[in-house]
Amino acid sequence: MWVKFKIFWVKFLRAFTLKVLYPFLMLIGAFLKSKKESFQDFIININNNLVMKLGIKTSKLLIMLPHCIQIDKCDIRITNDINNCKRCGRCNVKDLIAVAENCNLKLYVATGGSLARKLVKDIRPDAIVAVACQRDLSSGIADSHPLPVIGVQNERPFGPCYNTKVSVEKVQEAIKTFLQ
Ligand code: SF4
Repeated sequence: MWVKFKIFWVKFLRAFTLKVLYPFLMLIGAFLKSKKESFQDFIININNNLVMKLGIKTSKLLIMLPHCIQIDKCDIRITNDINNCKRCGRCNVKDLIAVAENCNLKLYVATGGSLARKLVKDIRPDAIVAVACQRDLSSGIADSHPLPVIGVQNERPFGPCYNTKVSVEKVQEAIKTFLQ
């Protein structure tokens, strides 16, 4: 009984966060532009903590990466099939493929919101681990609700949408949250 109540409460808090608090903060962020990214961080962190509390275990997991994780010098097309990657190690794609292979999972590269939505529709996962910037993650997490998503923020040493990186350990941790 207590467990059922706890799950109900966590789901309610998550729905409130993504459907009420998030749009409200984005409205404030439209006026306080300097705060917008920290609001998005805040939403992603609350969401991740709540999803972890749900204790969902599944191997039907979708792992989505942003296209900007591939280094611009690489002309190999990985959007249709990430296994085209030659695993040269110049970007994080090589290590992320290894992590996914170790867990028997597939990785997908989403070039935008519509492709991400199509992937979710086609694959129908039980849960998602998504890598992206604060803006795309927070909006993607809210769009996909009630599907459980753990968001891992990328690092942008050269600015947005260009040669981004991600902590492979953080992606690994997020995947482990869902695996049996
Ligand atoms: S690891 Fe190498 S081959 Fe694979 S996407 Fe990155 S740069 Fe291209």
